[in-house]
Amino acid sequence: MNPPAGQCVDGANIRLAPVAHPFQLFNTLTRKVENVEPLVPGQLTFYSCGPTVYSFAHIGNFRSFLTADLLVRTATALGYDVRYATNITDVGHLTEDDVTDATGEDRMARALRSREGQQFANVWDLARYYADELISDWKHLNLREPSVRPRATEHMREQILAVQELLDRGHAYETKQGVYFSVASFPGYGSLSGNLDATTLEQSVRDVVSDPEKKDARDFALWKKDDAHLMQWYSPWGWGFPGWHIECSVMAMQYLGDEIDIHAGGEDLIFPHHECERAQSEALSGKPFARYWVHTRFLQVEGKKMSKRSGNFHTVRDLLASLEKGGRGVDPLALRMTLLAGHYRKPYNFTFDTIRAHTRHRERLTEALRAVNMDPMDAAQGAGTSDPASMGSFEPLYDRALAAMSDDLNTPEALAVLFEGVKRILSASPGLSRDEQNQAAAWLHGMNRLLGVVYPEHEGAQEPSATQQDDTHIDELIEERQKARAEKDFARADAIRGELTALNIEVMDSPDGVRWKRKTTF
Ligand code: AMP
Ligand code: ZN
Repeated sequence: MNPPAGQCVDGANIRLAPVAHPFQLFNTLTRKVENVEPLVPGQLTFYSCGPTVYSFAHIGNFRSFLTADLLVRTATALGYDVRYATNITDVGHLTEDDVTDATGEDRMARALRSREGQQFANVWDLARYYADELISDWKHLNLREPSVRPRATEHMREQILAVQELLDRGHAYETKQGVYFSVASFPGYGSLSGNLDATTLEQSVRDVVSDPEKKDARDFALWKKDDAHLMQWYSPWGWGFPGWHIECSVMAMQYLGDEIDIHAGGEDLIFPHHECERAQSEALSGKPFARYWVHTRFLQVEGKKMSKRSGNFHTVRDLLASLEKGGRGVDPLALRMTLLAGHYRKPYNFTFDTIRAHTRHRERLTEALRAVNMDPMDAAQGAGTSDPASMGSFEPLYDRALAAMSDDLNTPEALAVLFEGVKRILSASPGLSRDEQNQAAAWLHGMNRLLGVVYPEHEGAQEPSATQQDDTHIDELIEERQKARAEKDFARADAIRGELTALNIEVMDSPDGVRWKRKTTF
């Protein structure tokens, strides 16, 4: 099916790419790269599992969220009308959630007891705070806002009704400790993860669950009875809280329908989360749930699994915050570019060397924006056209980038095309005609819509914020230095330059005026 002309998720009209690229993705369910054929031609429904908000999101989480973002951007650029839902898990889940029937301690409850947790009045407060911070990181890294961002705690009624319906349909049973999904009642269980036979499935459940009334070791919890839990709701089975998997089934179906096109998450979610989600949804609707399942490989840092103990654990917050605030002062879009430099299905090793290299690429991109008369900070406001027809000789470069992204989100190839175009702009500049500048500008806008690394798109994301420095003081110093130079007070001008150097600011004098940048500090 050829994608239709349509509207972007952000509302801007775009023309279809001159060559309609088939949108191809690797489908975990079939273990093949497939052409995406949505249920309703031209429309794409997409659900991506969001974070559990018990602390700041780390760069691994954002590797998975970025895959979702790039999928939306690519589908939109191809002309699909995308409806995109991503949730916030603000109840539970348990520390042993990587086993089908979660045991262990509730992550939120544990976070509340931690040193950082002491500042919150209660667990609801803690969840709200980290959910807001997540959205702030989301904007700094230029991720598109989803069409809907539902929260688990705001869909408790629907979750309880879904559990009741599974009981009514004979797919679930109640014990003294909770309500369980009966895996034996759903023959397709195991086909997503490939854990097809009961023995393999039982082996992948590392912990044997302690409920003696459970009928089958594979069965997983839909509801936990617990009247001592910090977050509890009243249900037909008494006070308690839902199992982790049911929230995504319920919210995906409520906002996108019983059958959705694409479902995504990190590779750890294949089993048990997505396997269980699929079983619940299909048992509820009797229809196939998601047609394509997309999973992102885990990010490694400096060659190792990211962990606090190895000292290689980085939240987005820590990397972006200024040195003064104890952070590393990384440019948000350099971080985004670093994360998307590796293909989402391949192992990717994140290092400070890769951030340094991408910080240099970002600087060149900023120079390219200036060369085509765009203010890097205001580019989103004066967004201009990104219609491929107005890109002139840059159009083939756009087309190649779109072809790469349509080919199972080949970000390394798309970035290589971006760097090629930047090189072309910079080597022709100054000396670009007005027409060429406009064409290159349209291309840069188009590339930003596709990859989101050229300039910040969210209003306020470039403003000084909790994570960024206030530049007013630097601007004042630069102005004062200019004044001193104009008055030939060179001693004063040099002293100010020294002050700026101490603040880690590099000043660059050029015939077009003075520019400055922060020196990298990592
Ligand atoms: P969580 O908050 O643990 O539910 O995780 C939110 C999302 O981040 C899920 O899709 C996880 O699969 C994903 N995720 C967690 N750690 C990593 C990692 N190191 N690399 C890539 N994705 C990850
Ligand atoms: Zn989920």
